[in-house]
Amino acid sequence: MAENEFLLATEPLRKRFQDILPQGGNLNLCLACGACAAGCPAAGLAGMDPRKFVRMIALGMDEEILKTPWVWICTQCQRCIHSCPMKVNIPEMIYRTRASWPREKRPKGILGSCDMALRNPSGSAMGTPVEDWKFVVEDVLVEVREKQPGWENLQAPMDKEGAYFCLNQNSREPVMEPEEMVPLWKILHMAGADWTYPSQGWGGENYCMFLGDDQAWERIVRNTAEHVDRLGCKVLLNTE
Ligand code: SF4
Ligand code: SF4
Repeated sequence: MAENEFLLATEPLRKRFQDILPQGGNLNLCLACGACAAGCPAAGLAGMDPRKFVRMIALGMDEEILKTPWVWICTQCQRCIHSCPMKVNIPEMIYRTRASWPREKRPKGILGSCDMALRNPSGSAMGTPVEDWKFVVEDVLVEVREKQPGWENLQAPMDKEGAYFCLNQNSREPVMEPEEMVPLWKILHMAGADWTYPSQGWGGENYCMFLGDDQAWERIVRNTAEHVDRLGCKVLLNTE
């Protein structure tokens, strides 16, 4: 069976998007004004832009839509829906189109990062073990305290029970650019914020969302929420 061929045997995309389109599915309300494409960072890439995407769905060009790699280039930034006078929910249409792809055919980088996050308790797409995460935070903190005058009392709490804020972190930073974590620690310090990192569930990015995998996305979020609750924090500060 050709890639995505099975999808074409099911209901048309336009029908599958009915609940998120203006007036219950009336794509003729699209004015073809191009406001969506004007601010789109993915416009022109892979021969596609959001206006063209909408027109192709309106014209029933499902086969082309289900094959275009452009849906994976869209950043899901939401600019298009904010600029659209008819409030056509293009990002959600793109998300659902992604979810229509067979999982194993989705981009390997996003797929691998999602699966890695699912496999380890940190929720980190880099697969960083708990002990490494704790070590890096402590190591960076000690270095700042020792080498940066005025920051001798800087804090980077780990698993502090009852802290008001629970902070997550992009997984790349402790591995690739650990010093990039410090500016936010300093801001929180200056603000007198009561915060903590969790030792688990701290991976801030969620590639499963970008993968169009609802169930995996939910598992990552639930893992994080579990550790926010475990520590009794009131607010999750999502840095991603
Ligand atoms: S901004 Fe809205 S109305 Fe204008 S072309 Fe895009 S989808 Fe159509
Ligand atoms: S959500 Fe996607 S289609 Fe819409 S403006 Fe952002 S990149 Fe473009």
